[in-house]
Amino acid sequence: MPAPDDFVVTPYEVKGKVDYDRLRERFGTQELSPELLARLHHLAGGELHPLLRRGVYYSQRDLGPLLDGYANGRPFFLYSGRGPSGPLHTSHLLQFDLCQWFQRRLGVPMYIQITDDEKFWARSGLTREETAHWGLENLYDILALGFDPKRTHIFFDSRSIAALYPLAIRVARKISYSNVKAVFGFTPSTNIGLGFYTALQSVPAFWPSWAEGRAVPCLIPCGIDQDPHFRLTRDVAEGLGYPKPALVHSKMVPGLLGEGVMSTTGNRADDALFLNDPPKVVERKLRAAFTGGRATVEEQRRLGAVPEVCSIWALWRTRFAESDEKFEEVTRSCRSGELLCGDCKGQLIERVHAFYETHADAREKAKSWAESAIVTEPPRPL
Ligand code: SF4
Repeated sequence: MPAPDDFVVTPYEVKGKVDYDRLRERFGTQELSPELLARLHHLAGGELHPLLRRGVYYSQRDLGPLLDGYANGRPFFLYSGRGPSGPLHTSHLLQFDLCQWFQRRLGVPMYIQITDDEKFWARSGLTREETAHWGLENLYDILALGFDPKRTHIFFDSRSIAALYPLAIRVARKISYSNVKAVFGFTPSTNIGLGFYTALQSVPAFWPSWAEGRAVPCLIPCGIDQDPHFRLTRDVAEGLGYPKPALVHSKMVPGLLGEGVMSTTGNRADDALFLNDPPKVVERKLRAAFTGGRATVEEQRRLGAVPEVCSIWALWRTRFAESDEKFEEVTRSCRSGELLCGDCKGQLIERVHAFYETHADAREKAKSWAESAIVTEPPRPL
């Protein structure tokens, strides 16, 4: 008898304790295997991003053929996006961190879609001005991660519509209402903007092929919860004469409150570490964060703590332990009971403050080129 489904993962909600191997089976994706990682390590000149080394990215679709093509002189491009409903939090950076690494190591172009239209349609509490405002703010944070101005292109939906629309028309004809209803759970009261948005979200995956008049492969790094979005894109690709985009999927980052994944749904602002949180707020949130520690110091010294359930360990793992030595030291001394949660949090708070300071400088620099990277014209008239 199969195990009962005791967790739910969709693009809109995550409930229960996620079994990631079972989720991969349920979604029908493939393992990001040691063999694939070894090939990537070789192609990237003997380096792997910590998110790959530490198993945060663990699943994929068609990564092998994409790497085969790259090895044979057929470069790909990266596509990722952001629905701007508010400030970014640290778990939003996972997909962009990996994209930036791919761009830096393999020299490939990056396309970023800022979906200010979709967030306006999806969140009744947000105005058009707010989604456009957060679109720009989020974009500065994303570009500040180190993207190359010469190889980075932005679709800011409400401003790039002339560039997107000729292709969106063709994509929209391939997607039926019953498809989007099944994937996104639309109801009779869902506004018609969201129905059409599915076509717009697929366009960047095909745009370089359209622009260059030849098949240009696409790679989309994303959280595994977002896989259903791109299944539709993959389903329509070949009918339009374009390659199916390949995907690499990450696990999700646990929230600071210790319940489910890092999220701001339900206004649980203390569940996430926002990039615009002032230092005092960062400290308060991290001091209050859920850990895998024991009830008393004596117990923790004797039994050790449990890093795998700890929201602080998840932050070390996904961003703040840059070297493997540091990550291994935190993990080992946590398990052995040498490291106590208060000290561990103190060390992390210092790292987060340092990152926020560096990031603020990089963000100011990104402002100088963000506008010029926004694509506003189609590559050629249709
Ligand atoms: S020592 Fe650090 S990593 Fe371990 S449970 Fe405590 S806070 Fe988490």
